[in-house]
Amino acid sequence: MRILFMFLAMLALPAQAALNIFSTVPEWAALAQEIGGAKVKAVSATTALQDPHRIDARPSLIARARNADLLLATGAELEAGWLPVVLRESGNPRIQAGQPGHFEAAAFVRMLDVPGKPDRAGGDVHAEGNPHIQTDPRNFLAVGEALAARLALADPANAVAYRSGYAAFAERWRTRIQQWEAQAAPLKGVAVVSQHQAWVYLYDWLGLREVAVLEPKPGVEPSLAHLARVRDAAATSKPRMAIRAAYNPPRAAEWFAREAKVPAVVLPFTVGAPEADDLAALFETTVQRLLKALK
Ligand SMILES: [Zn+2]
Repeated sequence: MRILFMFLAMLALPAQAALNIFSTVPEWAALAQEIGGAKVKAVSATTALQDPHRIDARPSLIARARNADLLLATGAELEAGWLPVVLRESGNPRIQAGQPGHFEAAAFVRMLDVPGKPDRAGGDVHAEGNPHIQTDPRNFLAVGEALAARLALADPANAVAYRSGYAAFAERWRTRIQQWEAQAAPLKGVAVVSQHQAWVYLYDWLGLREVAVLEPKPGVEPSLAHLARVRDAAATSKPRMAIRAAYNPPRAAEWFAREAKVPAVVLPFTVGAPEADDLAALFETTVQRLLKALK
């Protein structure tokens, strides 16, 4: 009887413990931590060196999802290849689609590259629009505001803290965005080539012009013959750099950079890549590397 009582007391403990957050990608875990501080414990299922489209639904991921109070995902089919399996196998009713514990960031931003008709043929992993919304820092304001409200819903005792946590983040963030925009002014109108269509939001923010993409379709590795065609087609638009994410294999961007005699630029893409320890460093490093490549 006494043992049963202690067991019940232990079950009640999590009410005081930090909110347990399972994020599919590092950027939303970082945002939740900025807003919630010590009141949340956010872990990411993936790292900056993994392709978020292609993740194995490993038992360790499923075990983490099983105990989560709140799931943070990008949505827009970014995780379509693996999250449904993790959700199903987790058996956790709180975080299933449609539940308050299931948060999709893409629902709160203006989506770019949305096709008239979804077309998944040939391995296209952007059939519902471009899911890489974290490459524009302005999107963290809209997502952060919605996330603060969701945190308050999941953990009403700390609702005030989440609201003020977001307000403080938004104030810091707006100042940083202005600084980055001022520094990045020379990038406006600059022609670039991308390995994957990972940067439409970044380009939209800074005014960069994407004149070619090395992948024949999002998620499909380019052949050498395809790369040569892209090189020839892009020659007249004089791209100044070839951009890839830290998680992309280097082959395609480096080949193009050699051929076109322009720098190959590796951008962090998300938190946790080299020189991108937090959200501010992610954009600081992104802007500085683009400027360096222009010189
Ligand atoms: Zn993609």
